[in-house]
Order: sequence, then C-alpha cells, then structure tokens
Amino acid sequence: AKSLGRNNYQIYEVSAEQAQQQNMALKSGLRHAEHNGELRVFYQPQVDAVTEDIVGMEALVRWEHPELGFIGPGFFIPLAEETGLIVSIGEWVLRTACRQAQEWERKFGLRLRLGVNLSAVQLMQPNLLEIVSSALDESGLDANLLEMEVTESISIKAAPNLVENLHGLHRLGCRIAIDDFGTGAASLDYLRKLPADRIKIDQSFVRNIGVDPDDEAIVRATIEMAHRLKRGVVAEGVEIEQHLQFLRANRCDELQGYLFCRPLPTPTFEKLLLERQRL
Ligand code: C2E
Ligand code: CA
Ligand code: CA
Ligand code: CA
Repeated sequence: AKSLGRNNYQIYEVSAEQAQQQNMALKSGLRHAEHNGELRVFYQPQVDAVTEDIVGMEALVRWEHPELGFIGPGFFIPLAEETGLIVSIGEWVLRTACRQAQEWERKFGLRLRLGVNLSAVQLMQPNLLEIVSSALDESGLDANLLEMEVTESISIKAAPNLVENLHGLHRLGCRIAIDDFGTGAASLDYLRKLPADRIKIDQSFVRNIGVDPDDEAIVRATIEMAHRLKRGVVAEGVEIEQHLQFLRANRCDELQGYLFCRPLPTPTFEKLLLERQRL
C-alpha cells in the first residue's frame, strides 16, 4: 500500500496497470485542480531556537481532491513535474503565499519570513525572475522576506539557467535556502556555487539525534560549517524535546517541526499568530 500523505487516501494492493491508470486519472485531475480551486497552501512555523518565537513560515501545497480528500505534495508534485503543471502550480503557490504573508504583516505588524519551495523545473524557466518580481509587486511583500527553498537533488550541470536564476533572485533581494541539506550528492558544491543565505538540515539527520552518534556529528558539523560561512541554519523535522535541546546546545538558529506545530491551513495559522500576539 502506498500512502498519499498523512491525511487519508491510500491505494491498497494495486497492480502496476491499475497504478498507472490511477496516475493518469490523477494527472488529468491535476490539470484542473488549480482552476477548480482545489489547491491549498498550508503554513508551518519556523521558530527561533532560543526564544521559540515564530520568525517565519514555510508554504506547503496540498491538493484537496473532490473524491479522494487531501493529497500530499510528496505524491502529486512529482506528477506535476512530469506533466510540466508544476510551473503554473508553483506560480500559484508563490502568489498566494506572498499575498498571505503581506496580509499578516499588515494585520499583526509581524515581519515573518516566508519560505517557498521551487522545483527544478521552475528554476530552469527563463522567465522565473519576472514571475517572482511580479508576485512581489502585486502583493507588496518585501523581497527580503521571501526565501526560496531549493533542493540539492538538482544537478547544477544538468540545469541550465539554475545558477543564473538564483543569482537573479538574490539581486531582487530574495533569500535562498538550500533545502534537504546533506541528502544530495553535491551538498558542498551547492554551497560553493550558489548564493545561499541559509541551509536547511534535512529531517533524516534530525530524526537520528539521540539515536545515531554519526548523524549527531554531521548535524553539529553542518551547523558549525554554516556559521563559519556566515550562513544561517534551520533544522527541519524537529519532533521531540531531545532534538530541540541538542540543536539549541549546538547553536542552530531556527527550528521547524511537529514539536512546535504541524503545517496549518490559513485560518488556523492566523489564530496561532493572534494567540501569540496576546501573550
Ligand atoms: P520539504 O520542502 O522538505 O518540506 C518539509 C516536509 O516535512 C513537509 O511535508 C512537512 O509537512 C514535513 N514536516 C514538517 N515537520 C515535520 C516533522 O516534525 N516530522 C516529519 N516527519 N515531517 C515534518 P509535505 O508538506 O508533505 O511536503 C513534502 C514535500 O513536497 C516538501 O518537502 C517539498 O519538497 C514538496 N513541496 C511541498 N510544497 C511544495 C510547493 O509548493 N512546491 C514544490 N515544488 N514542492 C513542494
Ligand atoms: Ca522545503
Ligand atoms: Ca526539506
Ligand atoms: Ca524533502
């Protein structure tokens, strides 16, 4: 059985042929998802490791399928990449999240950083910079509050425009974060060649804090290296108190994970900001 994300839908014991038919059906559904208003952006807080104040949030897309319920991005983003739909879905997420972040700034006076994931396909688009500047202009969000998350699964050599686009985004004033740091084949090459402001330590390392001394050493060394390079560092997948204590003791800057909060739909995230404001 393959899980389509944590919320509900599962495929049980399907044959390869059935699975392919299902993928075809989903791909065609995905084609209309944006137009039909079935896409949602959820937001997950990023907190300061010392004060635990919310300092930013990551935008994470979900697909609310009319029959199947919520489908997670881990399942449909690859389909969207195969079909090229990721370009328009990614643009929709970016515009929606920028508008939302600007609205929260206006309502709460909070200057929260907004992280948005960029797929390799988007990073190769020749008009990426125009799309990002127009999302910033139309929303009124400050460029330096927008952080583009780029995974290092993308090969720099195989992706024309990628390095140029990232430098262009930097010139616009956007920040760049290397996502899933340490899981790709070229982490250090990425760090050397890309204008990265931050590193996001992958959750597979964080999960092994208190379990695997080697992974603990990697986390420590990554934080140390980031700081020596004058980069910020965020840990993702922080689930338990022990992760928090370790990361704090080792001077990680920011934390993200279920220990603090799951990704939330807009109204729930807004309630959270309101509660925090009253404290
Ligand atoms: P990611 O960018 O590495 O995002 C972090 C994922 O970890 C999210 O899964 C988040 O819900 C999950 N997570 C957060 N805290 C914890 C924790 O404490 N424990 C565990 N086990 N997981 C945690 P999600 O939302 O299912 O997204 C999966 C992936 O889909 C993302 O991984 C990202 O690569 C991709 N994705 C999501 N939204 C977008 C988008 O708008 N555009 C693109 N291109 N990709 C997206
Ligand atoms: Ca991410
Ligand atoms: Ca990640
Ligand atoms: Ca990931």
